[in-house]
Amino acid sequence: MMQYVSTRGQEEELSFQEVLLSGLARDGGLYLPKIWPRLSDDHISSFERLSYQDIAFHVMKPFTGDAFSDDEFKLMIDTAYSSFDHEAICPLVKLSKNHFLLELFHGPTLAFKDVAMQLIGQMFENVLRKRNIRATIVAATSGDTGSAAMAAFEKSDLVDVFILFPKGRVSDVQQRQMTTWGRSNIHALAVEGNFDDCQSLVKQMFNDHQFRDTIKLTGVNSINWARIMSQIVYYFTSAVSIGAPKCNINFTVPTGNFGDIFAGYVAKKMGLPIDKLVIASNQNDILHRTLVTGEYRKRDLKQTISPSMDIQVASNFERLLFELYDGQVNFIKKAMHELAQEGVFKLSLEALNIFRDDFLSGTTSEEMTSETIKKTLHEFGELVCPHNSVGLAVANGFRKINDSVSMITLATAHPSKFPGSVKACTGVTPMLPERYHDLYSREEVFLSVKNDFREIKEIIAERTSV
Ligand SMILES: *Cc1c(COP(=O)(O)O)cnc(C)c1O
Repeated sequence: MMQYVSTRGQEEELSFQEVLLSGLARDGGLYLPKIWPRLSDDHISSFERLSYQDIAFHVMKPFTGDAFSDDEFKLMIDTAYSSFDHEAICPLVKLSKNHFLLELFHGPTLAFKDVAMQLIGQMFENVLRKRNIRATIVAATSGDTGSAAMAAFEKSDLVDVFILFPKGRVSDVQQRQMTTWGRSNIHALAVEGNFDDCQSLVKQMFNDHQFRDTIKLTGVNSINWARIMSQIVYYFTSAVSIGAPKCNINFTVPTGNFGDIFAGYVAKKMGLPIDKLVIASNQNDILHRTLVTGEYRKRDLKQTISPSMDIQVASNFERLLFELYDGQVNFIKKAMHELAQEGVFKLSLEALNIFRDDFLSGTTSEEMTSETIKKTLHEFGELVCPHNSVGLAVANGFRKINDSVSMITLATAHPSKFPGSVKACTGVTPMLPERYHDLYSREEVFLSVKNDFREIKEIIAERTSV
């Protein structure tokens, strides 16, 4: 049975169920499976005839172990993806010879976060019901995670969801996607502060062990292993549909917290013939600079038109460090300490070389991002969101040097989530999909709160039904 270890090494090994419910390890580390399961070429080839849901079962089963029976797990996968409005779930669209877009935005809240969150909703229900317990989810969002979590738990009678978002700093569509549920277990809190303030409030809650235990606090942001696991699937489905494992494939991933692209790295470890994983950053390019210089150095956060990638510290990079250093937790503990104290740590030359074996990187200016949205519409007739555009700009640059291997660029959100910037670049207002036809006539309900830990704690304690 698959066991999980913490990247800081001080926790005991856990089962999948425990990892699912705990999110962050109490020693501050992130959970990883002890070994990478391998799928044979024959097994991967057989995916060609299977649906997204069936492939999902084969790819994830080795990680869930005996947490769910096969029938249970299949039903959970089917239910999760019945909320998507495309029958392929994550369809692949051809842009040009050897360049494809992987559309990950056909779920209920129009961003790739739904792919994992819808399944996490099912898995939580299953485990909480078996253990006869309830849970409270508190998360900070810069836009997309919040609504995806709400959509995943809106029908649950075992889970209360509290989402902290920075007041006035998310797009209008994103705000309405969080404030119009009309459900008593779903709570949107507009915090007078920025995203970092929201995140720091949530961290304080996790560190307040008494409060954490009282409300049965749990986390669903991208440090939760189950999210990474659910995202491995679309690397397989897309690559197999254009010829893998008989040929190599490259992927370009618009990156913020390093969660989505780490799922691609896991797919490679499992045997999918990925040649390069290309990290695409906006002006917040800490990962690109790390790959170039070997130095992971924090800088001030810049606001861009791709806000879901406006992140300074990519939490999931710790998982890759564990790989680069072959599980030497002492290095990780030291690096994380230096990062907290001095805002920087250095990779050894050996680790940097291993990093560069699997990954490439690139960054784009704001002008380039806008220009690429325009160009993609004119050349290929595809209207893309700014995050996707960062990916395309970086992928195009790479393909000028090498286009012999097929490239798949991830389209992480629907353009209608960011109508302002898309219209500014193209003159075209992207249409919201049918399921949101009445978004602007729905009643908004949210609480405005000060950036005050005690006040927010009280609000949550009062409203949770644990
Ligand atoms: C979350 C998000 C990203 C970044 O993904 P990571 O897993 O944090 O690297 C990119 N694009 C969109 C639209 C997102 O919502």
